[in-house]
Amino acid sequence: MLEPVTRIKSKTPVAYELRAIHRDTHDTKTFCFALPGDATLDMLPGDYLYVHATVDGKAVKRPYTPSSMPGATGYFDLTVKRYETGTISKYLHGCELGDRVLMSGPNSGGHWVDGMAKQVGFVAGGTGITPMISIIRWILARCLPVELFLVFANKAEADIIFREEWDKDVREHANFHCYHVLEQPPAGWSQGTGRITETTLRAQLPEPGPDTVIFLCGPPPMTDALETTLKAIGHSEQSIILP
Ligand SMILES: Cc1cc2nc3c(=O)[nH]c(=O)nc-3n(C[C@H](O)[C@H](O)[C@H](O)COP(=O)(O)OP(=O)(O)OC[C@H]3O[C@@H](n4cnc5c(N)ncnc54)[C@H](O)[C@@H]3O)c2cc1C
Repeated sequence: MLEPVTRIKSKTPVAYELRAIHRDTHDTKTFCFALPGDATLDMLPGDYLYVHATVDGKAVKRPYTPSSMPGATGYFDLTVKRYETGTISKYLHGCELGDRVLMSGPNSGGHWVDGMAKQVGFVAGGTGITPMISIIRWILARCLPVELFLVFANKAEADIIFREEWDKDVREHANFHCYHVLEQPPAGWSQGTGRITETTLRAQLPEPGPDTVIFLCGPPPMTDALETTLKAIGHSEQSIILP
């Protein structure tokens, strides 16, 4: 018989112990937090938690989307980029194993619901990839009959979060397609360069239609511009999902 699972959702902050830290890129780390053995976060892929802290005497909170899959028991992961002048990202990067970090949620974000589309585009800039990680992992792990198209923009190759995972997914899943766009490409780079353009979106994303949704996340100037472009291509407002 399956053991019952405790599903955690809390409006008030709960302290979670930091159990492991993995370096992903030069400025991004994945922080693994402990849950009681039979517990899981009560969330859909793409939902987010608030991290709370008191920094310089001020109470602050910021949203973070767990990169671990919903349903993971005993732990969850946050993948966080450190900004030199950032408040909570710097606080998290300064945490050590055993520290307890206050978080509330999960809260409902732009999430995936099984069956919502047969073709899914993901347009991400930098850490905008984080809400998409758990959605992509979820769909591929469950072998759902969905075609996935990721367009991922970064400054340089060293900034690509989970690069090895994307390369592996392309090799192992015929329904996963990935196109990188770099502002500063290395010599011999064969994928996109500069910024994500309308031409890139037309070439790399599925056609607009009732079976298509597009997740869009990144710095606000990028998402504002690309939301307009996606609509000009013919993607309806309700088919474009923001965090
Ligand atoms: C729903 C949602 C989910 C999110 N999930 C994640 C996640 O999983 N992982 C993650 O790393 N982030 C995620 N973010 C972004 C995160 O919430 C914070 O905004 C980010 O960590 C910066 O917070 P901070 O307190 O460190 O910086 P702040 O104190 O808010 O900003 C201070 C300075 O940091 C710099 N800075 C902050 N954000 C940016 C940026 N996006 N681009 C360039 N410079 C910036 C700027 O110089 C800014 O003036 C998410 C955002 C949303 C809305």
